[in-house]
Amino acid sequence: MDNNFLLSYLVVTYIILMMFINFWIIGHIVIKEYVNRRVVLFLSSIILYMAVESIALGYIVFHRGEIFIEPILLLFASVPLFLSSITKNMIVRLKSDIISSLLLSGVIVFDEISMGYLYSSAFGPHSYNPFIDSVSNVAFGIMMIIDGLFFLFIARVKNIIEFALTTFTISMAFLPSLFIEFPKLVQLFSSLVSTAIMIINIIMLYLIEIKRVTFQGQLIALSLALFDFLMMLGLLTFASFNDMWLISLSVVISMMWYFIAVLYEFPNKRIEMKLRYPFIFLVLINLAELSMGFGESVFGFNITNSVFVNAIPTRSPPSNPFWWLFPINPLLMGIEATHATNDLVINAILTSYMFLMATTMEPFYVIMMGIEMSYLVYERYKKAKNLSVKNWALIIVLGVPIFTVLIPYYTNIYVFGMSGMIFRVTLLSFTISIISVIVATILFGRRAYCNAVCMSAHMWTNIFYDQFKPKRSSRVWEYVRWTFLAIMLIAFLSYIMIELKLLAPIKIGMITLDPLNFYGMFTVNYIWWIFYFLTPFFGAYSCARQGWCGFGTFTGLFNKVLFKIRAKDVSVCENCETHACDMACPIKIPISDDILKKGYSNRINCVGCGDCIEDCTYNNLEIIDIISFIKK
Ligand code: SF4
Ligand code: SF4
Repeated sequence: MDNNFLLSYLVVTYIILMMFINFWIIGHIVIKEYVNRRVVLFLSSIILYMAVESIALGYIVFHRGEIFIEPILLLFASVPLFLSSITKNMIVRLKSDIISSLLLSGVIVFDEISMGYLYSSAFGPHSYNPFIDSVSNVAFGIMMIIDGLFFLFIARVKNIIEFALTTFTISMAFLPSLFIEFPKLVQLFSSLVSTAIMIINIIMLYLIEIKRVTFQGQLIALSLALFDFLMMLGLLTFASFNDMWLISLSVVISMMWYFIAVLYEFPNKRIEMKLRYPFIFLVLINLAELSMGFGESVFGFNITNSVFVNAIPTRSPPSNPFWWLFPINPLLMGIEATHATNDLVINAILTSYMFLMATTMEPFYVIMMGIEMSYLVYERYKKAKNLSVKNWALIIVLGVPIFTVLIPYYTNIYVFGMSGMIFRVTLLSFTISIISVIVATILFGRRAYCNAVCMSAHMWTNIFYDQFKPKRSSRVWEYVRWTFLAIMLIAFLSYIMIELKLLAPIKIGMITLDPLNFYGMFTVNYIWWIFYFLTPFFGAYSCARQGWCGFGTFTGLFNKVLFKIRAKDVSVCENCETHACDMACPIKIPISDDILKKGYSNRINCVGCGDCIEDCTYNNLEIIDIISFIKK
């Protein structure tokens, strides 16, 4: 038998045996619940002996290292054994004993890095340094998958926190850095699998954040959001600069936290749900999503173009079968803007704009956010009592793939803010789509646009963002909205005039501005996104309440034709003491006042979310639109 083959066979056998013994020991300790601290120390040394033997084997056999490394490592592995001999007998509950949980977590992580070291010494990669090589191979990924499944299997209670921890660790197992030795398309595929699992993980974190008002729930939701962000930042630097440090470090830190979280039970006491928890969560999760969108788009763009086009163009050509998912490279767009003009300040503004906009308008980012938000809208559907609110929740879910992905990206029909990314919008299609929006909003009110087509509906009408309703509004916004509408009309008019060759295109340095796309993208992918990020401060639907979405105000004008929120019986409102409708409205429309004056409310800023109908104490509200006329 070939020597190399025999050696490889021995390495694989050693790793499998070592994993088997480790899981047997750890499972034994965890299942027992109550353990003697001395036993934990003793067993930690057993695990460490196997770990240091892996290092010694890899170092001496494959790197031709000095043999004296072995006694030094064995001495290190004996430290817990020595401590066990001087520690008093003490029975502790493992999940309540931070010392035992921390020790075991550290030992397991060290053990898995050691196995990764042995594997990489035998099979590669050998391209970086020992630490990076140890955590950048498939053996390390397989261990993480087994960890996730094993701890889920032995968990006494299998609740959403356990599932979130499992998906968290399994998503790490598919990070592309672990497939560095494989062909580029395999790396891309693994990275897509990793982000798909992370999307499931993020949805679970949202659900924990909403439902768990306990210290443990908040800690898990916030910490996993932070580590998801760290990992995605690692993916971003790996995709952009081929840097392996951050992604490798983030994996090891995340693993350490994962083991602490499964081995230690944090207090499950109820806590007061203050705004700061959802706000920190929202910031972390959005940073994770942005980094994921940016990193995955750069990675996908570079890999697919280098494999299928044999070059790195500025835009993916049709010969790249993945052009529809990775049409542009946000990194290249940002870099291009750094020298767009001779003015440093303008360049800095353009660069920040390009980085953010090119990330948030990438199909990958929109699809990822669409999946997450749709699930949260579906949760709203399950919770809603009123049939019309339920039906609209379903329409919103259907609206994601149709109106925020398929139509704006893959046709040249104008859907505010997203179009023109892949296909240029023509004057004819622009006109037809504006007329369609007008007809739809005449028939169903502003909700036909704001509550089904625009991505705001997916973000702000869902079970998580629902909690950020402002307490009051200001009359200032009533006037501000007309300014934004005027700016939008000027942008649209300029676009029409440029298309008709009545006006020259606007140029800033090397960049030619299409007023239609600039206005749409600037509003939806820049202003909208910043307000979305700051939802806890500005409240849900700030676009409609503060009126900075000119297109929303435009569609709101047609609320005045057929659409009404009407009281079934005005006398019920006259005697109502709760005014729950007013409190429920995210736009802060004084609905009860309107009803007492006219019997209905049909303000321009009403997005038709249905919250007032859902929350009315006496189920006294209904929506009047074309459907109610047909039903009559
Ligand atoms: S909560 Fe219902 S009954 Fe009370 S004022 Fe509002 S619409 Fe009328
Ligand atoms: S009035 Fe009712 S439907 Fe309109 S925005 Fe307010 S809560 Fe939503």
